[in-house]
Amino acid sequence: MRRELAALVRQLRRRVESSDESEWNLHGAAAPCAGSADKAARLAALARQVNACRQCSLGSQRLNPAFGVGSPDAGVMFIGEGPGYQEDRQGEPFVGKAGRLLDKILASIGLSRRTVYIANIVKCHPMKDPGNPQARGNDRPPSPEEIAACRHFLDEQIDLILPQIIVTLGSVATRVMLGTEESITRIRGQWRTYKNIRLLPTFHPAALLRNPELKKDVWSDMKNLRKELGAPAGGNP
Ligand code: SF4
Repeated sequence: MRRELAALVRQLRRRVESSDESEWNLHGAAAPCAGSADKAARLAALARQVNACRQCSLGSQRLNPAFGVGSPDAGVMFIGEGPGYQEDRQGEPFVGKAGRLLDKILASIGLSRRTVYIANIVKCHPMKDPGNPQARGNDRPPSPEEIAACRHFLDEQIDLILPQIIVTLGSVATRVMLGTEESITRIRGQWRTYKNIRLLPTFHPAALLRNPELKKDVWSDMKNLRKELGAPAGGNP
């Protein structure tokens, strides 16, 4: 028995010594597991429900819903408030100017939209003037009624993906997820919890485009996130 145990320990030691970085989940995504295909199928079914959804008025105004993008096994989930002009056209969250900045922020800590999961509080584009969907600068935050109607889709995404960490982008997503009235300026960078999942609020990339001074705070939050995921951060975005 003792000899068998010693052999097992030697085997495990050899396994650990010969493993490489990619096996240590440093990229924010869990290793694919037997349930991955099932999760992907259930997310696809949920996306079809969103495609057919008219539970609030945004459903009849949108061009395309922006359901979510990324890995069903993501260790980190980023949540924004809602699709804008470009997202409405392309049917994917964070694909406009702010989305390109988010891609750079992710890359600076070794992540990408393929390895994390990105979603919004509401799936359809809230517009100031729904009669003019071609107009630029027509975005607005979702109303409490629209958030209430859409919220269950996000909860189902979270329940399926079960991320280790949620990062909320901006004040609307942070207020909705935490049920708080605290301003994003006050609570960004502070670890909170949502249903036993660690949650880190930070600024929305669109806020960084308006005020580049905020970049240093987001960089500090991303280093913090990277540390939590267990690897050193790279260069400043
Ligand atoms: S915003 Fe959400 S609840 Fe409203 S129509 Fe779109 S998917 Fe349905």
